Amino acid sequence: MHGHDDANLAASTIAVSAGRPKRSPDAPLNAPITMASAFIPGGNSGYGRHGNPTFNSFETVLGELEGGRTLAFASGMAATTAVFELVPAGGIVVAPQGAYNGTLTQLADRARRKTIKLRLVDITNTAEVTNASKDAALVWVESPTNPTLELADIKAISKAASATGAAIAVDNTFATPLRQKPLDLGADIVVHSASKLLSGHSDVILGAVVTNDDRLFNALAKQRESLGSIPGALEIWLATRGIRTLHVRLDRAEANAREIYARLSKTKDIVHPRYPGFGTIVSFEVKAGADIAQKITETSELITYTTSLGGVESTWERRRRIPSEPTTVPESLIRLSVGIEHVDDLWDDIVFALKIAR
Ligand SMILES: *Cc1c(COP(=O)(O)O)cnc(C)c1O
Repeated sequence: MHGHDDANLAASTIAVSAGRPKRSPDAPLNAPITMASAFIPGGNSGYGRHGNPTFNSFETVLGELEGGRTLAFASGMAATTAVFELVPAGGIVVAPQGAYNGTLTQLADRARRKTIKLRLVDITNTAEVTNASKDAALVWVESPTNPTLELADIKAISKAASATGAAIAVDNTFATPLRQKPLDLGADIVVHSASKLLSGHSDVILGAVVTNDDRLFNALAKQRESLGSIPGALEIWLATRGIRTLHVRLDRAEANAREIYARLSKTKDIVHPRYPGFGTIVSFEVKAGADIAQKITETSELITYTTSLGGVESTWERRRRIPSEPTTVPESLIRLSVGIEHVDDLWDDIVFALKIAR
């Protein structure tokens, strides 16, 4: 592009332009969905579990946004699993006590089977994290955490860990590369649930890992092939389409989230509103307790009562209704995923739901 280095392009421009098919007469503007389990020998794919040309657009655009090389996985948990598989037998894993429940469930299971040793830490306490990391194989960071929205000092944690040889992986699902670039902050691996903001329309389950370390990239590629945790061509195509609008969706949903947080902070029926200053998730507790909180989520008409997050439509749920949710999450905590609707309509719905449950 006019001799410019792609690395100097704004993230919004990369989101729109990276990973397009090469321009030539009659080449399509978007990569086609390739439905094939086998390919003619001599290229990179060969067999569908080893790769598929539909992966390239998504892996290129997310890689350029994060500043590394990307591997797409069947889900966020499949991506997470591939990273955990790199920990040597009996190796120490440090992880946030407030991490995503699927991550904690898998770590606890591995610890129970003694394939790893698990150290849960307060990820906001950098001294505690770096202390626990000294003899660790892997430091798993999630920031902001789901659903309590705690922030980690990724730069300080990475710096301390690189001195001791621990690998640092960051679950960047809530921030997206538009708000936080862990590889630039010194992390070794970025993990995404692309089911959330990257895809953005609540119609895809997909995951990804990104790294700029060739040894880790090759090891993770081998895990994907061995575990068979590859995405489907349709899912990855939809996720690429989602990333094309990530910046505009994120800007709008974030502005809405900031405004809703400000209004919630002045609302007397709720306590401990949480918002990390960026992103699209707002969490809060209900003064009247868990049953009323549950009722509130079931009362809204515009905001959908459901799990997951990061879609164009607003959703909410009381997280502790899910039995595997860690007990560190308050019983009455509602996690609100703010969408791109008009903020006043969302606010009216919140006020309506809070009132009816009183
Ligand atoms: C949803 C989520 C995951 C798991 O991703 P899936 O795509 O559902 O497998 C991991 N981490 C965070 C922070 C999440 O929100």
